[in-house]
Amino acid sequence: MQLETIIGLEIHIQLSTASKMFCSCSNAGEDLPVNTTVCPICLGHPGTLPTINHQAVELGAKLALALGCKIQLVSEFARKNYFYPDLPKGYQISQFDKPLAKNGQVEIVWLSDKQIVSKQVGIERLHLEEDAAKNFHFQDKTLVDYNRGGTPLAEIVTQPDFRSAEEARVFLQELQKVARYLEVSQADMEKGHLRCDANISLRPLGEVRLYPKTEIKNLNSFKAVEKALKYEQIRQTELWQGGQGPKFSSTRGWSEAKGETTEQRDKEESADYRYFPEPDLPPLVLSEDQVEEWQARLGELPQARSKRFMAEYGLGFAESKIVTDDKMVAEFFEQAVSEGREWLTTLESVTGSKEEIWRNNGRKLVKLIYDWLVSEVFKHLNAAGLSLSESKLTPENFAEFVALVYEGKINSSAAQIILQEMFTTGEDPAWIMKDKDLGMVDNLADLADLVVGIIQTNPEQVSQYQSGKTNLIKYFVGLAMKESNGKANPEILTKLFTDHLSSK
Ligand SMILES: [Zn+2]
Repeated sequence: MQLETIIGLEIHIQLSTASKMFCSCSNAGEDLPVNTTVCPICLGHPGTLPTINHQAVELGAKLALALGCKIQLVSEFARKNYFYPDLPKGYQISQFDKPLAKNGQVEIVWLSDKQIVSKQVGIERLHLEEDAAKNFHFQDKTLVDYNRGGTPLAEIVTQPDFRSAEEARVFLQELQKVARYLEVSQADMEKGHLRCDANISLRPLGEVRLYPKTEIKNLNSFKAVEKALKYEQIRQTELWQGGQGPKFSSTRGWSEAKGETTEQRDKEESADYRYFPEPDLPPLVLSEDQVEEWQARLGELPQARSKRFMAEYGLGFAESKIVTDDKMVAEFFEQAVSEGREWLTTLESVTGSKEEIWRNNGRKLVKLIYDWLVSEVFKHLNAAGLSLSESKLTPENFAEFVALVYEGKINSSAAQIILQEMFTTGEDPAWIMKDKDLGMVDNLADLADLVVGIIQTNPEQVSQYQSGKTNLIKYFVGLAMKESNGKANPEILTKLFTDHLSSK
């Protein structure tokens, strides 16, 4: 029997607001001592009243708009009732039948077996809610840190549109990028800023009805999402091959150590939570003007930027993704390219209009900027544990540095030294080149003397070369490079050696 896999995701994203969802406590509690960002409201004392944090509404709405959702001008908060020590009120304020946003659509694009593939993913809804507190274990006791209680969350529910674990993982990564571009969340999975539960069921190919599903919890990395779903796909396939799929829906936890899912408590139905409208909060009413303003301020989203970089700068799909994954890197890259583009027009060796100069020389410059950024700059950043904006490297200086390489004023070993210096001091590359005497020697007379000297002191190799062993040219150039402390221009050297050795 051929089976089809059906996957849907439920994602919680912690919103980067200044204060909590319904009180004025700081939302930076995860970095502060336990139980210090709490007040009677988020601790659920009787008689206290919540108020809606409008910054959370704005961040949630922007995320919803970026996912193509329709904002509901009137939405409602509801109580989700359950008892647990991390929930002092005995209920969580969430949204139920009137969520903030509905009916979105997101395109995901990725490389699968070196082919670019894409897919539309439906978003059922996005709603706002407060987070529960955090349990932690101390000696043999379980304690509760209420700092996290009341943190604003956006919960996103996708349509069951994914047909493989890979698609689900790609969507999550895209969602993380979007959240970071919009600056609505740090969306760090390891820190729990982005949490994912995945629903999976199988069905005979061609059928349209859905069968009982498994909900997998505790997925705290992209890898875990993909691995757990693949595991569950195999487990359910075996059930189907044994006669029938799972008989009822269930909840399973993912164990990273064992690499398997295990049955947990039975899944509650929403009736078990006795949802009812939150009596202490008015409906959340937004104006169309407000929504339009948020829409206008979304800015360019990662997918659109990646496509534009491919079209404008001739980057390949994978290259463009590397540069646009992080908004800061994308902006740095684009600014460096724009500086470089201006610089090209000031060169004596180029002619034509600005557009022609760019058309004829732009690709070479962009490639140098890309290569140096992705290989060397990233390496320095990783080694120093810094982000691009924390480092001393500016796009202006970096463009000037690439210009030196472009013009052949420095060779690659000098370039490495200069870049390293730029990282630690933030100095101008041309100044470092002069200060450290790293400029390339391309004065013909000086280089000719060097070449003649080497030919005179290596008669044996010279005669071997002249009797046909022409790849010895590399040996001669190598000697000259060594003697010039790596500063001679190897292209000029190669030409000079070839000329001198053939004229003998
Ligand atoms: Zn509070």
